[in-house]
Amino acid sequence: MTQTSFATHEVFNQSPPFEDVNLFAVDRPLVEAVAANGGTAAASELSEFGQHWGSAAMAARGRFANENTPKLRTFDSRGNRRDEVEFHPAYHELMARSAHSGLHNSTWDPDGKPAGGAAEVVRAAKFYMAAQVETGHLCPITMTRASVAALAVQPDLLAKTMPVIGTRAYDPAFAPWPTKRGMTLGMGMTEKQGGTDVRSNMTRATRDGDGYRISGHKWFMSAPMCDAFLVLAQADEGLTCFFMPRFKPDGSVNAIQFQRLKDKLGNRSNASSEVEFAGAYAARVGDEGKGISTIIQMVQLTRQDCAIASAGLMRSGLAHAQYHARHRSVFQKHLADQPLMQMVLSDMALQVEASIALVMRLCRSFDRAPVESAEAAYMRLLTPAIKYWVCKSAPGFLYEAMECLGGNGYVEEGILARHFRESPVNAIWEGSGNVMCLDVLRALSREAEAAQAVLQGLATETKGLSGAGDAVIFVGKAFRRPDSERVARLAVEKLALLAAAAALNQVSPHHAELFARTRLAQNHASMYGAVEFGCDDVRGLLERTLP
Ligand SMILES: Cc1cc2nc3c(=O)[nH]c(=O)nc-3n(C[C@H](O)[C@H](O)[C@H](O)COP(=O)(O)OP(=O)(O)OC[C@H]3O[C@@H](n4cnc5c(N)ncnc54)[C@H](O)[C@@H]3O)c2cc1C
Repeated sequence: MTQTSFATHEVFNQSPPFEDVNLFAVDRPLVEAVAANGGTAAASELSEFGQHWGSAAMAARGRFANENTPKLRTFDSRGNRRDEVEFHPAYHELMARSAHSGLHNSTWDPDGKPAGGAAEVVRAAKFYMAAQVETGHLCPITMTRASVAALAVQPDLLAKTMPVIGTRAYDPAFAPWPTKRGMTLGMGMTEKQGGTDVRSNMTRATRDGDGYRISGHKWFMSAPMCDAFLVLAQADEGLTCFFMPRFKPDGSVNAIQFQRLKDKLGNRSNASSEVEFAGAYAARVGDEGKGISTIIQMVQLTRQDCAIASAGLMRSGLAHAQYHARHRSVFQKHLADQPLMQMVLSDMALQVEASIALVMRLCRSFDRAPVESAEAAYMRLLTPAIKYWVCKSAPGFLYEAMECLGGNGYVEEGILARHFRESPVNAIWEGSGNVMCLDVLRALSREAEAAQAVLQGLATETKGLSGAGDAVIFVGKAFRRPDSERVARLAVEKLALLAAAAALNQVSPHHAELFARTRLAQNHASMYGAVEFGCDDVRGLLERTLP
């Protein structure tokens, strides 16, 4: 019970906590985006998930896991190496709940092949809701799910690991993965001299019997208590991908020595290590020299998750802001009834509607890619564009959401300060902004015809929307320029906006036109709320966001 009466004052006009809500049922843009992309049959499963993750108990776990950050235990009291990281029990509970719901594996069948149906869309809806509660623990969850795509290059290894990856058990024991009920995987690519430019990796791999010995250093390797890591190292034939378990095949601890944990702006429940490989055992994944093309299979999926999680963070910011505005009165009127606040909130609501429609459309392309070449082309061209636009939108958006709560938004007891500190990371890792733009250009030059067909598809799907025709022409011309790199940010942002308008048009044509009018026909002002919407539009957008 909270105390609301004091000797000097009563507590009133404060918004109650936004907890014990069904994160699915109250989110009409999510419900409709899932349905528009093939996920209708999972509605009750998603509602159950939303009820659980929206509970006050889960919110408390998120807070505990971030206030009690992981601790590196390099040595024991007698000077023996331990190389273990200890987490608060709340972190383990979050991991267990996510694993129980298949966030780390439900897009794969037991053989590690794509599960088909709407598996990507359904998992994405869960990931979106989980991100509204706690994002740090989603790092090993996303890497585990994504690792299967790289392991597929080495079918014998995939066949061995899949029975352990494929369970819905979370097993935090520090023990060899073949003995465990469930396992998690991380990745080690970034070195001090280069993260984007992994070709500059200096970590060496030398053959040793059936396996390899890896020596070198990784500057960022997150979730160090994963059971194994996919690691890049230079072998005789060039940069190669390796599977490096925490324990060697004989059961002894592998030579993976953590030096320290990063002191990060956000993402604090998740540990990110600096690590030395002192001749660590590893098995090869794919051919020597093919490291980048092997690990990129994994990275494509983690990029998808970055976009989903950033959309989830924005949704959470919006929901908290709107909920607060409905309860807080200023000058005898609820904030939610002040015309200026209505413009801010509805403009933000439109941004989130478009983001979730776009992210779900992207996930449908992941579902359909194995059987439809047009969807595969959409997936390849638009994953980097969508990661760029959604992830880079999040920090500015969350700042505005915090401000809607006034001073309460800025303090650490609330979730918005944590969301704000978390928000830049999805744009920075797994390919930073410029790198995503260069990736779009690469996809365009490698598959010019397929990319042209994707653009043509977007033109058809946005026909009649304000500014869409001009945007299609602008994007087409910009990408054909010999110096396209110079205008890549202009063109990639426009491409993402076009794709967002197209995706929203499938869900809510009226809102797609509002989006196109304020984002395609003209440049959106640098602040949210610098728009003019009619009263009906304001009401419509805000009722959809929170009934
Ligand atoms: C919290 C956290 C956790 C992480 N966890 C992991 C992990 O588990 N495993 C792992 O391997 N890495 C991890 N990383 C590292 C991350 O992936 C890299 O930081 C990222 O890839 C960028 O690499 P870099 O830091 O070397 O920056 P650089 O590669 O030096 O890039 C710096 C800037 O230059 C830009 N840039 C690069 N190339 C070009 C170009 N050609 N033209 C124009 N601009 C360019 C980039 O967009 C970026 O803005 C993590 C990072 C963070 C912050």
